[in-house]
Amino acid sequence: PINTVKFTFPSRSVNEGFARSAVAAFAAQADPTLDQLADIKTAVSEAVTNCIVHAYRDTIGLITVTVSFYEENELRIIVADKGCGIEDVQQAMQPLFTTGGEERAGLGFAVMESFMDQIKVSSKPGRGTRVTLVK
Ligand code: ATP
Ligand code: MG
Repeated sequence: PINTVKFTFPSRSVNEGFARSAVAAFAAQADPTLDQLADIKTAVSEAVTNCIVHAYRDTIGLITVTVSFYEENELRIIVADKGCGIEDVQQAMQPLFTTGGEERAGLGFAVMESFMDQIKVSSKPGRGTRVTLVK
């Protein structure tokens, strides 16, 4: 990458806004349109919220966000946790699939997919999850 930042924070909901704003501030160097910036913030918000509510459901753990800026204004964002992990990633990514009960819509991954150019999810049950978002 041409430039990169990485930050780690506990999975407290108050930090979701910080992560979203920090990524947006870094993304500014890629000269995004306001729409693109809004898309990036929404996607980061979904990924970080998933760590808070699913990965560390009954506990507080660490979330690491890495944002990198590449040639041709490409932005890569990695949101990683060491939480419960996902049994079946393909199933988890289906629109409307949720383990969150009635409070959740099961649309977070669908939103990330539609708002970003590319999304990759790798996960190991009991070890954690890493979501890579590309714009
Ligand atoms: P919504 O995002 O609409 O509030 P949701 O979070 O359930 O609902 P998605 O964000 O699409 O929907 O996630 C689908 C499912 O994938 C979750 O219900 C959860 O089971 C699993 N999941 C997603 N992210 C993680 C994560 N970081 N760690 C563990 N499980 C996850
Ligand atoms: Mg979600």
